[in-house]
Amino acid sequence: MRRRNGVPVLLATAHRYKGGGYYMKAWCPMCAGYHTHGGIDQSHRASHCWTDVYKRTGYYLKLDPDDPETAEIVKLYRKEQRARD
Ligand SMILES: [Zn+2]
Repeated sequence: MRRRNGVPVLLATAHRYKGGGYYMKAWCPMCAGYHTHGGIDQSHRASHCWTDVYKRTGYYLKLDPDDPETAEIVKLYRKEQRARD
């Protein structure tokens, strides 16, 4: 398990809802399921896991650098963010 400042890091993919809006999806080894979090945000997150393991620490979501679809979604997201500023 990767850690940053003692906090677990989960690898996540980026996704876009059909109607707009973004979320990240991370595979959780503790409950062997996916956790989804709103937005494209790699900062510290509160745990969405029903197991106790991450309750205290939460975790970081790190975008998977090897997933081409995630790269495309992030590009789209940043473009939309720039258009909004
Ligand atoms: Zn979990």
